[in-house]
Amino acid sequence: MLKPLTANSHPIDRNLNSSPKSYRGRFAPSPTGLLHIGSLIGALASYLDAKANNGQWLVRMEDLDPPRETVGAAEQILKDLAAHGLQWDEEVLYQSQRHKAYQRAIDQLITEDKAFLCSCSRTQLQSSQNIHLGRCQYIASEPEVDFAIRLQVDKQPLAFTDAIQGQYQQNLQQQVGDFVLRRKDQFFAYQLAVVIDDAFQHITHVVRGSDLLDSTPRQIYLQQQLGLTTPHYCHFPVITNLQHQKLSKQTFAPALSNQQALTNLQQALSFLQQPAASTAAAKSINSLLDWAIEHWSIANIPKQLAITAAPTIAL
Ligand SMILES: [Zn+2]
Repeated sequence: MLKPLTANSHPIDRNLNSSPKSYRGRFAPSPTGLLHIGSLIGALASYLDAKANNGQWLVRMEDLDPPRETVGAAEQILKDLAAHGLQWDEEVLYQSQRHKAYQRAIDQLITEDKAFLCSCSRTQLQSSQNIHLGRCQYIASEPEVDFAIRLQVDKQPLAFTDAIQGQYQQNLQQQVGDFVLRRKDQFFAYQLAVVIDDAFQHITHVVRGSDLLDSTPRQIYLQQQLGLTTPHYCHFPVITNLQHQKLSKQTFAPALSNQQALTNLQQALSFLQQPAASTAAAKSINSLLDWAIEHWSIANIPKQLAITAAPTIAL
């Protein structure tokens, strides 16, 4: 039974002074590399869905894992978004500045006996296909060895309806196991940070690539454990290269050229199967975006998890 949490008893900061009810979307890149066509599709889809619904569009920099990040990438991503006419509302939120909020959530979950300390080794976890089954051992005080913090999941299937992919269900206990909130190396886990920050920024609609579809039940479960509101979810197909790999720094996705911003936007719109803009609308970035907002249709986006890039996109 979940306890309802009030503003006074809740240690999680939720910008309680303002509680907007209208649409608030976001784009949340990790500065592990520069913007490529795959990340532009994500930025554009979330931007258009927000603007077509008279909403706010926020940018959050998911700079949680400094060893994986590229120096200067965060600044360049913001410049690239601006060069593509994707102007965000409100200040950019940096996850590297949010550690206290993440730790407060962990402290709350431990106090409520929903999260636990885990010192299992990689080898131990491999013997159960990396699914953590039940509490390894309950450690009341911090052990001397490195430990992670995991959230205990339950055996109930968790289902939600995605705006593109439809009904999606997962049994966290069988398919995921008790998942990590803070890693052994002390870095906060993506699943925790994204949930805390979506709530903090009052995000009502999450529009992102289908590679995060199977993370969503974990995020909803965590929201429930923390008494937070669940936003609407919409997972569009990810773009893959000819080898069917998702575009990323690891698959050598080329960085976008800002000199080609208009073409890049047209390619992203075409990938999302939005109607082709009129010649007049396609003359400038601003007129193209205005046109795309007016004609935006989620229903046009194919119900697929991945689509290979068209040959016109240089990869
Ligand atoms: Zn363990």
